[in-house]
Amino acid sequence: MSEAKKISELKRKPDWIRVKAPVSKGYHETRKLMRGLKLNTVCEEAACPNIGECWTKKHTTVMILGDTCTRACRFCNIKTGKGNPVDPDEPAHVAEMVAVTQMKHIVITSVDRDDLDDGGADQFVKVIAAIRETSPETTIEILTPDFRNKPGALETVIAAKPDVFNHNLETVPRLYTRIRPGARYFHSLNLLSRVKEIDPEIFTKSGIMVGLGEEEVEILQVMDDMRSADIDFMTIGQYLQPTKKHVDVEEFIKPDQFLKFKTRAKAKGFLHVSSSPLTRSSHHASEDFEVLKAARIEQLSKQANINHQDAPIDIDEMKKHNPNYEF
Ligand code: SF4
Repeated sequence: MSEAKKISELKRKPDWIRVKAPVSKGYHETRKLMRGLKLNTVCEEAACPNIGECWTKKHTTVMILGDTCTRACRFCNIKTGKGNPVDPDEPAHVAEMVAVTQMKHIVITSVDRDDLDDGGADQFVKVIAAIRETSPETTIEILTPDFRNKPGALETVIAAKPDVFNHNLETVPRLYTRIRPGARYFHSLNLLSRVKEIDPEIFTKSGIMVGLGEEEVEILQVMDDMRSADIDFMTIGQYLQPTKKHVDVEEFIKPDQFLKFKTRAKAKGFLHVSSSPLTRSSHHASEDFEVLKAARIEQLSKQANINHQDAPIDIDEMKKHNPNYEF
């Protein structure tokens, strides 16, 4: 087989990656709603392979602060350039979308806004407040940029008390200069660690893509680093090359290898792990939030048993320290 043929075989998506074209009625309704409210989504901008499945169920990941990112990561399909003006109507539009779709759990992300003094933190806070006002039962997950060189931005967002704080490490540290040149691995890790230090009630979450040329031992090290930062939930998914301009897929990792990663990560103590070829940060986020809550309750009750030996578990005491969770 010629070298060119070998390369094209390597890049052809294997069967376990192929997804159906988005054609459902629910998909088209979601699309119309997002267009009407002038909302961007990472589902479309990042060319997510799960869009047919998610939008049929009216599950979207809203991307605030415009459609243009001030960084240029080599894996990401989002347009790069000068940031758009911040839209003062955006928080109300996001809240309206959540109310119309009656979402139980919403994921809000943003482009990187290195051009703004606060990196966009204030807009995250406004969006969270607007959703809480109109849909107080909806739980909120945010997937933020790294707020690098934006003093106070992280603390501002934490004070708004999202239910889940997600920030993706994206890849192993060795590949940062090639894949994520504007970011720093230990800065991102530290950001997640700080969330837990400041507000231990907020669930923390982070993910990596695989198939970029990382070694297994490096992935295991990332898992250990995440546990050192007390991250609750890890996601692992296959990198897919959005266009020829983006970095190549080095390898399509087989589904059984994703299962092995999941087993290893669970053994390291994460409350929850999602690891599969099509895992994305926000895929099944609502269902995963329920799993996280249940896992925390189980963990707390185990700790209570260890701490009190033969003494009965004091449910009232657990409720007092975890007012947001149903026991
Ligand atoms: S996995 Fe996330 S980004 Fe992809 S379509 Fe679903 S909600 Fe959107």
